[in-house]
Amino acid sequence: MSIQEAQVSRADFDQVMVPNYAPAGFVPVRGAGSRLWDQSGRELIDLSGGIAVNGLGHCHPALVEALTTQAHKLWHVSNVFTNEPALRLARKLTAATFADRVFFSNSGAEANEAALKLARRVAHDRFGEDKYEIISALNSFHGRTVFTVNVGGQPKYSEGFGPRPAGITHVQYNDLAAMEATISERTCAVILEPIQGESGVLPAEQAYLEGVRALCDKYNALLIFDEVQSGMGRSGKLFAHEHYGVTPDILTTAKSLGGGFPISAMLTTSDYAAHLAVGTHGTTFGGNPLACAVGEAVLDIINTPAVLDGVLAKGEYLRAKLRALGEKYNLFELVRGKGLLVGAVLNQAYKGKAGALMAAAERADLLVLVAGPDVIRFAPSLVIEHADLDEGLVRFERAVIEFVSQTPA
Ligand SMILES: *Cc1c(COP(=O)(O)O)cnc(C)c1O
Repeated sequence: MSIQEAQVSRADFDQVMVPNYAPAGFVPVRGAGSRLWDQSGRELIDLSGGIAVNGLGHCHPALVEALTTQAHKLWHVSNVFTNEPALRLARKLTAATFADRVFFSNSGAEANEAALKLARRVAHDRFGEDKYEIISALNSFHGRTVFTVNVGGQPKYSEGFGPRPAGITHVQYNDLAAMEATISERTCAVILEPIQGESGVLPAEQAYLEGVRALCDKYNALLIFDEVQSGMGRSGKLFAHEHYGVTPDILTTAKSLGGGFPISAMLTTSDYAAHLAVGTHGTTFGGNPLACAVGEAVLDIINTPAVLDGVLAKGEYLRAKLRALGEKYNLFELVRGKGLLVGAVLNQAYKGKAGALMAAAERADLLVLVAGPDVIRFAPSLVIEHADLDEGLVRFERAVIEFVSQTPA
């Protein structure tokens, strides 16, 4: 351990950090691919991918190269100027999607904030003051700003912060009848995750997304897909909505876009983008040259048949292995997801105990995630080596053995 590393430890967190997180007991200091090392030199396999952020694993050489090359050129110029990395990334994102226009920001919440503001603005400009209602799904997650946390359908995150923004309604996910009963001429936008990530890795049903698209068209409401988690190859397509053939009016993405460097984007058509005229919206760091240079390198690698097909194949493999493990130990009710966004739902005997299994995994030198109290979530690197995936599964079985032996069923 170097002297520098010895100077701080996990205990410092409890002294100097706002206590809104409860981080693990160790401090990671280095990563390479799907392996991570802590201060003591312990090596862990990472099947959590920084919560679906490290889409190309840790310190991918092409990203290190893109970041360091740009670091020697230009870091920031403000939005008084544009910059080459932002323009290049925007060109490639629009070429790869339905969209014609891009707004860059720095986090998923900010991209959603922009999307929701745009939807309200479009409705205001085209239909007047009364069309401002937003429909979102129960259990959805859209970020933690006051607006986005209230659009998200998890009251435990939004309660206790004063008056709520008006005009937001939540309906059951995958329930088209509930959407039909709620949407109206006053609705300006419907926002959905094509795969609900935080609340259990729950994919939308085909008929649901098709039906919601038709309802949005009927009521002149914009359809926003929040692909902050499901986007950038995670599902085995560049964006998860491509699996359904249902196109949104606005798309947001973040997490894997920077492969670990903060960046997010809101994508839309020229017609809708026109409503965010000069001065209507902005952010100091959005379109940062370092972030966009990394984002371009990420997109270049991920948006290839080799990587996307690999995600589909590895996802199938991972789900099959988890199903087999679930049967062997009578552990999972079902294993679901798309590509390398996988949720293993604990069966009745273990409901509420996902956190305990995640902790057992960590003791077995493996990083996995939870998605709510009942679901173990896997979001590994999209280019994870087969050997790492297999070693991760070996360690996961070790954790399962400890978990089932110690957890009263
Ligand atoms: C993580 C996430 C967000 C929030 O992103 P931040 O970068 O934390 O603001 C929004 N929507 C979805 C679907 C997410 O998974």
